Amino acid sequence: MCLPGEEGTTQRLSWQCCRNPDRCRWFFGAIKRTDAEKQLVYSENQTGAFLIRESESQKGDFALSVLDEGIVKHYRIRSLDEGGFFLTQRRIFSTLNEFVSHYTKTRDGLCVQLGKPCLKVQVPAPFDLSYKTVDQWEIDRNSIQLLKRLGSGQFGEVWEGLWNNTTPVAVKTLKPGSMDPNDFLREAQIMKNLRHPKLIQLYAVCTLEDPIYIITELMRHGSLQEYLQNDAGTKIHLTQQVDMAAQVASGMAYLESQNYIHRDLAARNVLVGEHNIYKVADFGLARVFKVDNEDIYESKHEVKLPVKWTAPEAIRANKFSIKSDVWSFGILLYEIITYGKIPYSGMTGAQVIQLLGQNYRLPQPPNCPQEFYSIMLECWNGEPKERPTFEALHWKLEDYYETVFSYSEANNFIR
Ligand code: AMP
Repeated sequence: MCLPGEEGTTQRLSWQCCRNPDRCRWFFGAIKRTDAEKQLVYSENQTGAFLIRESESQKGDFALSVLDEGIVKHYRIRSLDEGGFFLTQRRIFSTLNEFVSHYTKTRDGLCVQLGKPCLKVQVPAPFDLSYKTVDQWEIDRNSIQLLKRLGSGQFGEVWEGLWNNTTPVAVKTLKPGSMDPNDFLREAQIMKNLRHPKLIQLYAVCTLEDPIYIITELMRHGSLQEYLQNDAGTKIHLTQQVDMAAQVASGMAYLESQNYIHRDLAARNVLVGEHNIYKVADFGLARVFKVDNEDIYESKHEVKLPVKWTAPEAIRANKFSIKSDVWSFGILLYEIITYGKIPYSGMTGAQVIQLLGQNYRLPQPPNCPQEFYSIMLECWNGEPKERPTFEALHWKLEDYYETVFSYSEANNFIR
């Protein structure tokens, strides 16, 4: 057996190598706290559902995550050098099995007695529609049925569609003339190979006739901007806002690792799926599109830019880089924390450019914690090299609660 604390094992072994899945259905290995929360709040889990995971912040320790009346609570399980696990020093267990078995019989100080192990739900989005579209991604437009119009953007309309009568997809239908098909195909070739759970997957294209179709993963709740504006703080609170930011930073950290630049990162280009999944969309498209939304995209030199989201060096000297994406990420944090407010409200793009040149920055919004605002300011450093990497931003946001809330010795709650 290879559960932590079992004979002949080391604590670093993960659950995947356990040969007895029935015994360790509650051991989820090194999953993140936010992912543990997502798994536990699925409707099939009842109060008492629980899992044990390896702690993100304290290497070698474990954490118990348990569902209590729709809220997930986390406890740090401490381990002793000489072996043994405990929540409180007064009751030490030699294995995690013994630990679980005790707390499933009695609450003994926990918020709730442990019930059933958390159900494992995994619905990863496919990276391709089928094995055929892996290489052959120009597909027959007759295989796509347009079902419902989801919205219209600057490039055309977006539809919910069905591929081959089976697979739900999103279809962007592009206004004729919105781009040069050759430019797009070159970019799409790269986009097709960018694969990450926090990026909208490009599945296929139909470019042989107008309107061009771009076929992607479907996200049920549409754009983050509308999602935030519709909620306006009724259900979405800081924990979820930090989680949104962390998920976007994770997708962007992947683009950073692939030396790819988004060029139009904003809440309007982040999409919301079921179970609080957020993904970055439209990466790379800004380079090939001829946009005509004058409210957001203003003419600068020959190109049109979303001035309020764009870093000063990109506006001034067309210097786009992953660091100009980091600037835009700071503006996206502003959108997240203000529930979708337009930044620099009441100012024109020209005024914004002038003020930024005088070191003006968006002020701290009401209800925005200082820690969150500090991250925004780091993204808006006038010197691109001094801005953080997306990798650093990702970890800072993942660990946000570890650094903001202090660990309470009294009841061993992580938060
Ligand atoms: P866009 O042209 O990308 O600005 O998209 C216009 C609107 O269509 C967005 O605001 C979303 O509400 C919706 N939309 C775009 N892409 C998707 C998608 N993959 N899944 C679901 N809705 C989408």
